[in-house]
Amino acid sequence: MIPLAIPHLGGREADYLQQCIESTFVSSVGPFVDRFEQQVAQAAGVAHGVAVATGTAGLHAALAALHVQRDDLVILPALTFIASANAIAYLGATPWIMDVDPLSWTLDPHVVEQALAQHSHWQGDRLIHTPSGRRIAAMMPVHVLGTPADMQRLIPIAQRYKLPVVADGAAALGAMAHGQAIGALGAELTVFSFNGNKTVTCGGGGAVVSHDAALIQRVRHLTTTARQGPGYDHDEVGFNYRMTNLQAAVGCAQMERLTELVGAKRRIRDRYADALGDLPGVTPFQAPSWAKSAWWFSGVVVDRPPQRQEHLRAQLRQLGVDARPFWKPIHQQAPYRNAPVSATPVVDGLWWQILTLPCSCGLTEQDQQRVIDGVRQVLKG
Ligand SMILES: *Cc1c(COP(=O)(O)O)cnc(C)c1O
Repeated sequence: MIPLAIPHLGGREADYLQQCIESTFVSSVGPFVDRFEQQVAQAAGVAHGVAVATGTAGLHAALAALHVQRDDLVILPALTFIASANAIAYLGATPWIMDVDPLSWTLDPHVVEQALAQHSHWQGDRLIHTPSGRRIAAMMPVHVLGTPADMQRLIPIAQRYKLPVVADGAAALGAMAHGQAIGALGAELTVFSFNGNKTVTCGGGGAVVSHDAALIQRVRHLTTTARQGPGYDHDEVGFNYRMTNLQAAVGCAQMERLTELVGAKRRIRDRYADALGDLPGVTPFQAPSWAKSAWWFSGVVVDRPPQRQEHLRAQLRQLGVDARPFWKPIHQQAPYRNAPVSATPVVDGLWWQILTLPCSCGLTEQDQQRVIDGVRQVLKG
């Protein structure tokens, strides 16, 4: 079976792990953590970063740092991994779920603008969601699949409504928009994941980056039990969300090869686009012309009935190709069935048509050809 996405640990990971063990720096203080934070911030195009235990923890801490509170709403696209919504829910807040753009699959600025114009009003300096009376506290665009959300249009809307922006860039390290790196597109905070299936992995891990040193300091404070100084004084309810030196050791070795790893993802996606674009009812993953996606995942949109979709996946598995469905929208998930949601025609028509294909950085040309041949065989009719 050609797997969907497995890590590519072809650098100095083992060497750096050995250094951790010999130095006894295996826990959350250590030179690899500092180095990793600098590498990630630099790659994201900003000056400051803090490494954390997971991407989800990073999202939680980022929203907390921007003072999202119980009963607040946070604008969130319907098409994302459940972790984005969970981070909002951990704070007692609720996602306000909105539709995505049909090309990029990221939060649609037009939809956000309309929803805010029609369903919000000011109460002093509080922006209120008119139907529920709740405060609207933040906006969380998601750089889906490593394709940047349209921040050039989203940021002015956020500014007009005084909403801080946390970008879920979990899989988007290495992506660019209008020639700018992914952390420098106007979000107050951008969050990455280094989970095992991401392009760059620490086994598990995350990072929060920003141009704003004070804000990153606040995230760091919250993720280190809100401890003040060397004694046991804590000034608020913090979290133990630190990354360990062991995780960072793997991460540092991976970051040294970021260009190579993201380059491999882009080549894989381009090859699928070239080899499968002519099949009827099949559209390879697309991105807007101004975006340079990091192409965490590759695949095709297959315009066939949902039952046949299942059948296609089963047939591909029989040919040794691990093809999988993609995220089910947030408003269809049990914990978020009662969350406010704007009309979502794009995501409702799209999500079940998405078929992700093997795209490990180490996928050989030969194996990719096997996937292409298999997909052509199964989808030609
Ligand atoms: C992977 C991912 C996350 C979660 O990151 P973890 O490190 O697994 O907690 C969150 N959001 C998106 C969009 C992701 O792809």
